[in-house]
Amino acid sequence: MPIGMVILGRQGSGKGTQAVRIAELFGVIHISTGDMLRAAVADGTELGLKAKSIMDSGDLVPDSVINGIVKQRLLKEDVQQGGFLLDGFPRTVGQAEALSSYVEDSLQLALNLDVPIDEVMARMLARGRDDDTTEAITRRLELYETDTAPLLEWFGQRGILKIVDGNGTEDEVFDRLVSVVDQIVRK
Ligand code: ADP
Repeated sequence: MPIGMVILGRQGSGKGTQAVRIAELFGVIHISTGDMLRAAVADGTELGLKAKSIMDSGDLVPDSVINGIVKQRLLKEDVQQGGFLLDGFPRTVGQAEALSSYVEDSLQLALNLDVPIDEVMARMLARGRDDDTTEAITRRLELYETDTAPLLEWFGQRGILKIVDGNGTEDEVFDRLVSVVDQIVRK
């Protein structure tokens, strides 16, 4: 498989927007687990029915559920040919371990879009998505600290973590990300 990347960052860090642009520029497939889950909710599938209340409360869908969904997606031809940028996954060390067993050496870069808590809180309250209640936002940020932040060390130990400052305009942040990805892709 060509290059595989993940983008980490607090909820509201802008990683979804940036992930779409980066994937397009580098010609890899953008895989957003949040989008996949929201599509399942909209379609009223069994997964969607299970996921809806979990998502509304700001909790995480169990690893056993999300890992299988991601694995299936990674096996599709477009990803096998084009590579991927995962957005919203992994969110726990268990998910990261599952991911590395699925993709092995093709996972070459973990980007962390770094934006402080106060800033992401303000941004999320402003965007007003269905699951952006104060309670759900607080819960998601808590889970980020307990479950997702340890991934920075996990990827750091594997030598593939790059931290990118997520403050500034969308274009400024995009340029920073592009220069980091460029260094890996052109190696
Ligand atoms: P946000 O980054 O604001 O949480 P996402 O679109 O990434 O938004 O995710 C929305 C919700 O979907 C999460 O709050 C969570 O309930 C669920 N979800 C998405 N990705 C995962 C994942 N990797 N593991 C568990 N739950 C997930």
